[in-house]
Amino acid sequence: MDSAEEESHEVVIIGGGICDVATALALHRKGLRSIILEKSERSRSTGAAIGVRANGWRALHYLGVASELRQTAVSIHRVRDVWIDVGKQQEIPEGMILSEFLVDALPPGTVRFGCQIVSVNMDGENAYPTLQLNGGKSIRAKVLIGCDGSRSTVADFLGLKTAKLFSLLAVRGLTNYPNGHAYPHEFTRTRRGKILVGRIPITDKLVYWFVVQQLTPSDEKLTHDPEMIKRSTTSIVTGFPSDVIEMIEGAEMDSLSLTHLRHRTPWDLLLTTFRKGTVTVAGDAMHVMGPFLGQGGSAALEDAVVLARCLAQKVGAEGLI
Ligand SMILES: Cc1cc2nc3c(=O)[nH]c(=O)nc-3n(C[C@H](O)[C@H](O)[C@H](O)COP(=O)(O)OP(=O)(O)OC[C@H]3O[C@@H](n4cnc5c(N)ncnc54)[C@H](O)[C@@H]3O)c2cc1C
Repeated sequence: MDSAEEESHEVVIIGGGICDVATALALHRKGLRSIILEKSERSRSTGAAIGVRANGWRALHYLGVASELRQTAVSIHRVRDVWIDVGKQQEIPEGMILSEFLVDALPPGTVRFGCQIVSVNMDGENAYPTLQLNGGKSIRAKVLIGCDGSRSTVADFLGLKTAKLFSLLAVRGLTNYPNGHAYPHEFTRTRRGKILVGRIPITDKLVYWFVVQQLTPSDEKLTHDPEMIKRSTTSIVTGFPSDVIEMIEGAEMDSLSLTHLRHRTPWDLLLTTFRKGTVTVAGDAMHVMGPFLGQGGSAALEDAVVLARCLAQKVGAEGLI
């Protein structure tokens, strides 16, 4: 194809996170083809690992991947909350699991890496949207679904308010224990002062963790350089048990990420229109929330299933595509 020629697709999904891939899979199950455009050059190794709650499990069953997922990751039987300062702990029974594999269930070629959308244009309410990619290429889509996270370009196109910032930073990472770790199959949340450390084993050798801390003026200088993220995170968990410090020191460098936490208020969700023509958003792009309930990813999986159902009905009833 001539590079100046405009490509055309039926359903285009922006982003290669959990919501994006689940949406493509849900559409695939309804017989609808889609492509995913992801700005990273390869599959992301963090942020794709989440604890999945009961509603997320139901969505995974619908997507036909739940039983395979159960074989690739350990099941989490309970949540343990620990407050170091007051020497208190409590347990909550829970069923969760963790993994990153949805992409393998998609038809080959669905995900295109290294494709960053810089803008969306639409001439009139009833026209189809056109996406501008970095590098100058453009793609026309009959349906555009923005699953491009909390700083969504598609949300900007829809005129959504910018998601509000919490004064909290979260670092996420994966630590591999070649000889196995001794952690029980539980989601542990340990607090000391204003620092929260979450830990969930993925397999008997791999552990997913996150550290949430208050934003301070000196954090303005923080970069996304993994060396700096590891150094500063190790320093803020001083006073936590030694296994927490060792877990962070042993993190895989390319798994480390730093996020300034954002959220959309419930009243913004109730009062906002999330569609313009055939363009909409899902997942964090629509309803980014704090990690306190561990629901962002499960809600994104639900979005995928509901969107695919609605779109399939629309296609059946009106032959939209
Ligand atoms: C510390 C922490 C812990 C969490 N723990 C849990 C948990 O236990 N359980 C749970 O359910 N949820 C959890 N969450 C929330 C969960 O991670 C998110 O809700 C979920 O990952 C959202 O997925 P998404 O696909 O909507 O967005 P994202 O994961 O943000 O994916 C968006 C994708 O879009 C791509 N992208 C962005 N802009 C563009 C562009 N212009 N062009 C092309 N691509 C683009 C990005 O590279 C990215 O791959 C947690 C969040 C945090 C911060």
